[in-house]
Amino acid sequence: MPVRIRIPSALRRFTSNNAYFEAPAGSVRDILRHLLHAHPELKPHLLDANGQLRNFVNIYVNENDIRSLQGEATHAKEGDEVLVVPAIAGGAGPLLRMQTAASTELSRDELVRYSRHLLIPEVGVEGQKRLKQSSALIIGAGGLGSPLAQYLAAAGVGRIGIVDFDTIDLSNLQRQTLYTTDQVGQSKAEMAQRRLEAMNPNVRVEVHRERLTSANALELVKRYDVVVDGTDNFPTRYLVNDACVLAGKPNVYASIYRFEGQVSVFWAAKGPCYRCLYPTPPPPGLVPSCAEGGVLGVLPGIVGSLQANEALKVLLRIGEPLIGRLLLFDALDANFVTVKLRKNPDCVVCGPKPTVTTLIDYEDFCGLGSSATDEFLVAPQEVKHRLERHEDFVLLDVREPFEYELAHIPGSRLVPMNEVPKRLGELDPAKETIVHCHHGGRAMQVAGFLRSKGFQRVRVMDGGIAAWSEDIDPSTPTY
Ligand code: ZN
Repeated sequence: MPVRIRIPSALRRFTSNNAYFEAPAGSVRDILRHLLHAHPELKPHLLDANGQLRNFVNIYVNENDIRSLQGEATHAKEGDEVLVVPAIAGGAGPLLRMQTAASTELSRDELVRYSRHLLIPEVGVEGQKRLKQSSALIIGAGGLGSPLAQYLAAAGVGRIGIVDFDTIDLSNLQRQTLYTTDQVGQSKAEMAQRRLEAMNPNVRVEVHRERLTSANALELVKRYDVVVDGTDNFPTRYLVNDACVLAGKPNVYASIYRFEGQVSVFWAAKGPCYRCLYPTPPPPGLVPSCAEGGVLGVLPGIVGSLQANEALKVLLRIGEPLIGRLLLFDALDANFVTVKLRKNPDCVVCGPKPTVTTLIDYEDFCGLGSSATDEFLVAPQEVKHRLERHEDFVLLDVREPFEYELAHIPGSRLVPMNEVPKRLGELDPAKETIVHCHHGGRAMQVAGFLRSKGFQRVRVMDGGIAAWSEDIDPSTPTY
């Protein structure tokens, strides 16, 4: 029986969509060599320029991180499963100090409302009062935030904060079940508040209609007992993590992509933090977000419910929260796997000698700041001028055909991202190529790929067709 390597869905386009690869038993290094020999396009995603395993890719043999074993020399024997787990974008002391001083007594209505909780010995009247006195900050009222907010409100968490500056878009409704069609264009945080207060008037919902930033994160996080991270981008992930470590708060984390979800509880006082798991973020564009890669509508429902479960366990102080463990869920094979996480003794934020002691610039940290990508980016305005002057360049649209049909820039040429490698012959390496997609993530990936194939003059249109629609031509539909 060989060793089975499980390929995460973010990387399956490099393995002809195969979820598994089999290799003979041996060291992780040899097994990866077999994998990369069979699927060479995976290489830049797993290894850096020096052939070292990338920082944002973790490898597990069964449930153990190879960093806690013998690294790449770790032996995987017949029947073992090797997991490749990349970071994906697309949510105190030993006891919590409850911060709300609301009445601790339960009213008659509340006794009826929560009767199914009161019947469980692990919750009971004491547990229900504890929930009433507790508070949770939900960051992001989107796909994960929808089930999260609803279950925490229904369960009677006394004070719920919702941070979201966004408005409801038609394309959100496939998974964001907090909202209705007639609310398109309205504030997510405000509509969420309306829905939750209608569901349970005993709960106070606090709306923070603002972007979470290094300037406001720490103050916000300090005001709640538990933080639930339902965001979809790396800068906010690291910001939430660092704010929680600095404030000593538990961070109930989840992320989703296509059919896969990850859930954990990062709580520096008791276990590892997000940075222990992924010390550095992936370079921009290498890991697509849900907006770029898509997500099965029910997935955030499942994963956000798991997050709500962890938040309630932390608040009730029952069970075994996912501290020091990462739960991986694959909706396609309906498979749950849990791997062990370790605290990194050299962690820059939760280790004994932290170098990150205040919140930093997370856009910059994630390579999205001005300096890192400026020369790579072209403003939509410049693209417009050059199209008008009929300059000689290719405006390459790497979105899917259905997106092209929804909206496209006249003069652009469609080659969907996944078809670029096999249709490379249609493109001229000597010609200047400006790549664009919906927001920019896929375009960055394709641009990197084209550069690796000898295209010298490749750049990316900043902000994709979404920015084009906003800045240049409002008649271009958004989606
Ligand atoms: Zn850490």
